[in-house]
Amino acid sequence: MRVPIIAGNWKMHKTVAESVDFVNQVKDQLPPANELETALAGPTLSLVSMHNAAIGSPLKIAAENCYYQNEGAYTGETSPLALYQAGIHHVILGHSERRRYFHETDEIINKKIKAALAAGLCPIVCCDDTMGRRVAGSQVHWVVNRILLDAQGLSADDICRVTFAYEPNWAIGTGQSADPSQAAEGCYLIRQTISYMYNRDVADNVRILYGGSVTTDNIHQLMNNRDIDGVLVGGASLDPQTFLQLVNH
Ligand code: 13P
Repeated sequence: MRVPIIAGNWKMHKTVAESVDFVNQVKDQLPPANELETALAGPTLSLVSMHNAAIGSPLKIAAENCYYQNEGAYTGETSPLALYQAGIHHVILGHSERRRYFHETDEIINKKIKAALAAGLCPIVCCDDTMGRRVAGSQVHWVVNRILLDAQGLSADDICRVTFAYEPNWAIGTGQSADPSQAAEGCYLIRQTISYMYNRDVADNVRILYGGSVTTDNIHQLMNNRDIDGVLVGGASLDPQTFLQLVNH
């Protein structure tokens, strides 16, 4: 059985003090992790303090990025091993904002996924999509290719530690979520690709989330779909009470 996940992605929001205050407000009101996994991805500077505040609660702390080397002369980068040793559980990789603004290619993302897994982190790998591709009918080819390239060379054990997230660009930060059938179709495509790469059993073990303008109004409809194992939430995860409402959808 795949345990559903509600994960917040704060992006470049919140100071260290604001991050800790948020964790303190929600940590005692979360369900057990074996029923529903809850995670918060915060800015790098906040992660250690968030982890320390969350100790003893089911909340897992996630990084929003990491590098593909554990140490070396890479000014400004973050080591996956250092994250793991600091108690960080997940790392978001391949978010469309990283692909677009920081020119991350599938090759780089593939290296990061391998390095994160080797360090002990569980990657949340994002697959973007555009309305143009959807209209042009090239969406299936696009999504399948992202998964083939990003997950290239991972063992079946590795892929079971990866969570994927289908995040269409037109839905991110726009207030215009994909409708549940579009969201489910994206997640289904990802699962079919994993089934093709490995087998049905492996694909049935991998969790696949939807992300893009998830709110307290649409979460229930999105989660009430057998192809969607959870959500990756940006803007609506920034407020502690709203995050708790999402968790209790
Ligand atoms: P929004 O929920 O703000 O649309 O952001 C989605 C996202 O990018 C999550 O990774």
